[in-house]
Amino acid sequence: MKNRACDVVVVGGGAAGMAASLAVLEQGYSSAIVEREERLGGILLQCIHNGFGLTEFNEELTGPEYAESFFTSVLKSDIQVYVDTTVTAIERSREGLEVFFVNTRDGIIRMSCRAVVLAMGCRERNRGNLRIPGTRPAGVYTAGLAQRLINMEGYIPGKEAVIIGSGDIGLIMARRMVWSGCRVHGVVEILPYPSGLTRNIVQCLKDFDIPLYLRHIISRIHGKHRVEGVDVTPLVNGIPDEENTFFIPCDTLLLSAGLIPENELSKEAGVVINPQTGGPLVDSTMMTSVEGVFAAGNVLHVHDIVDYVTEEARRTGGYVAEYLTGFKPSLQVKVKAGSNVRYVNPAMFNPERPDRLYLRSLIVKNKAVVDISVDGTPLQQIKQRHVQPSEMISISLSAAGIDPSIFTPDSAMEVSIL
Ligand SMILES: Cc1cc2nc3c(=O)[nH]c(=O)nc-3n(C[C@H](O)[C@H](O)[C@H](O)COP(=O)(O)OP(=O)(O)OC[C@H]3O[C@@H](n4cnc5c(N)ncnc54)[C@H](O)[C@@H]3O)c2cc1C
Repeated sequence: MKNRACDVVVVGGGAAGMAASLAVLEQGYSSAIVEREERLGGILLQCIHNGFGLTEFNEELTGPEYAESFFTSVLKSDIQVYVDTTVTAIERSREGLEVFFVNTRDGIIRMSCRAVVLAMGCRERNRGNLRIPGTRPAGVYTAGLAQRLINMEGYIPGKEAVIIGSGDIGLIMARRMVWSGCRVHGVVEILPYPSGLTRNIVQCLKDFDIPLYLRHIISRIHGKHRVEGVDVTPLVNGIPDEENTFFIPCDTLLLSAGLIPENELSKEAGVVINPQTGGPLVDSTMMTSVEGVFAAGNVLHVHDIVDYVTEEARRTGGYVAEYLTGFKPSLQVKVKAGSNVRYVNPAMFNPERPDRLYLRSLIVKNKAVVDISVDGTPLQQIKQRHVQPSEMISISLSAAGIDPSIFTPDSAMEVSIL
């Protein structure tokens, strides 16, 4: 086993990992990025459509273009980069933390460090997670895997497709399959509203006349060796209306039914997971329940827009650098999801240094208000033109409107949508 050392180890070289390590470097600390794929960039590398970077670069880039600007900076810097290398464990030592990783060149490496940033992204829910009845033929793929096959491996998974779930990946893949010469018979969504961004509904379904079946489920997959079709059943008051089930012949079924933060490694390291997000529970500095271990990006909570990932990860890198100086916030209070809010991240708030909160709505509403209160006392109200569960809300709190004296260590901040 080889022994090495640096100040901060960043696990994962996607948008979050790259932004966090550049921020750490900017503050004068050394870091290493460990990435299990052959190159840096993460999920961005397979997203060859445009729509990335409107906030960060003020222009629309493709995923690889967005990633390039970061990995160019990383590769020019003193950041140690390990690609084709998988992190297998994070452990506490007497001096700090130890990260173990493995690759075919070096074997096992033990990297001693003072802080770790978890940036492992997320994974897709698969057929096992969805429990769809029927046979087990070939031709069932997660949408992200199909995207990788087409965009990176040059392999078209089928000719006649149906897509489960109207999340962004499913919508983008509906259009991508059509562009690859495939016929897409429809997108089937269990909810009464689409799960993806409105712009993707328009640009990926409406523009290509692909039907969207809201309040419908795939109730059976048919086919022995290869998918031959699926049964689609409408829901009435949430109950399958079996009499109106219809059959769609197809040879491919793509699943786009949600993403799950990739936290096996985090759990093994003893990190407490927030049941509302599936990611680590973090304080106002993005530190997890394990001292010195921070998190950013999709491993923390699933983001719809990469610019938010970059912003959050850059901030996390800054907090890590502060932590290395010995800084600890003197007061942090709990943040709770109130009415109509699925979750709020981070789970703690520092009244002396108000920052950004990310939240997801449980409702679809025009002219909504994000209402923030502390122990029942109103703190701030922020107007939103439109809210829906698929679009993450990012709120910047300014110190100007906040009187730190109303907070006690037992205070709780509640964020609701009215
Ligand atoms: C299909 C799709 C379409 C999208 N479209 C848009 C869009 O149009 N506009 C937009 O702004 N955003 C879009 N996004 C969102 C945005 O691209 C992502 O949220 C963002 O890139 C995620 O960055 P990340 O660093 O958190 O995760 P990732 O990019 O997933 O990076 C995580 C990295 O960690 C590595 N890793 C995991 N475990 C280990 C381990 N144990 N050891 C070493 N390495 C490990 C992985 O290999 C991966 O490279 C899209 C996302 C997807 C999936």
